[in-house]
Amino acid sequence: MTAKAPLLAVQELVKHYRLPRERLLAAPPTVHALQGVSFTLQAGRSLGIVGESGSGKSTLARLVMALEPPTRGQVLLAGRDLHALPAADLRAARADFQMVFQDPFGSLDPRQTVERIICEPLLAQGRLSPQRQRERAAEMLEAVGLRAADAAKYPHEFSGGQRQRIAIARALVTQPKLIVADEPVSALDVSVQAQVLNLMQDLQDQFGVSYLFISHDLAVVDLVCDEVIVLYQGRAVEQGDPDTLFHAAAHPYTRALLQAVPRTQPSGARRGAARAAALPPLEDARASGCSFAPRCGHRQPRCLAEAPALRPLNAPGHAAACHFAEQVLASPVD
Ligand code: ADP
Ligand code: MG
Repeated sequence: MTAKAPLLAVQELVKHYRLPRERLLAAPPTVHALQGVSFTLQAGRSLGIVGESGSGKSTLARLVMALEPPTRGQVLLAGRDLHALPAADLRAARADFQMVFQDPFGSLDPRQTVERIICEPLLAQGRLSPQRQRERAAEMLEAVGLRAADAAKYPHEFSGGQRQRIAIARALVTQPKLIVADEPVSALDVSVQAQVLNLMQDLQDQFGVSYLFISHDLAVVDLVCDEVIVLYQGRAVEQGDPDTLFHAAAHPYTRALLQAVPRTQPSGARRGAARAAALPPLEDARASGCSFAPRCGHRQPRCLAEAPALRPLNAPGHAAACHFAEQVLASPVD
């Protein structure tokens, strides 16, 4: 471990899932959920991962949390390769990274008190006296805007938003450096979403935690993240700060995603994106070319022949995997 290592470095992460064989003599089909994703996250900063359903976001979350092994690639937390750690070391390291799941109903054990739920991650770190455990649960409940007295209750006594606060309290109890939040507000009412997002921002200031924040909605990551990566079919297709992605998206897929953002855009991105998305898929593009080419309104012959690499553009930190990113940038979003 080196002092200068970033909090999180994901290197060329690949994950293939083998599906059950469809025919006796055929090779079993394989899902390429992640196809070589790399990024770094500095301590105290937050990174958003956006992409439509099936783009590989939850797979990435599970690999970063070391809940399952990658097919290839590495996850380095403060310079240590999580997937190469001996089990006991990994258990100890888990104090530094915790997860908040999408479903606030499924993710809390209905038979446990809130105190037990919140203190559960502490068990792996050694025994805590009942008195100390009570104190920690009370501190965490108050940090997330609930009451210390809520510790004795059960999950069914809370609303979805309150349950997600409990899940956040549980994630914070070990004083982690990183919280991986997989669609933490997607299951909540819109009015409650903003409250939970504001809470997560406040907690970041208070505890100095970093988020790897996953969402299918660019507007949600905009509130919480300093930087955003757009995933498409298991690849990073664009990266930049939220403002750049909103106002100067260079990848046609990011522009298509903006179409799904409910907040009013000053631009006319919606119509152009709708046109791009409506193009019929071209199966032959998949083998060699850009995986977005079948849906892309900017498609040229080169896009079907050659897969574009993620490459830096003019704005600092902005990168896109598109042969024609400069032209896309220069083209009106209308
Ligand atoms: P997202 O969270 O962006 O919706 P996922 O990471 O859940 O995407 O899924 C990415 C792809 O991998 C999808 O095609 C999904 O069906 C597939 N996948 C995910 N987990 C498994 C699994 N355990 N077994 C087989 N396929 C999986
Ligand atoms: Mg998911």
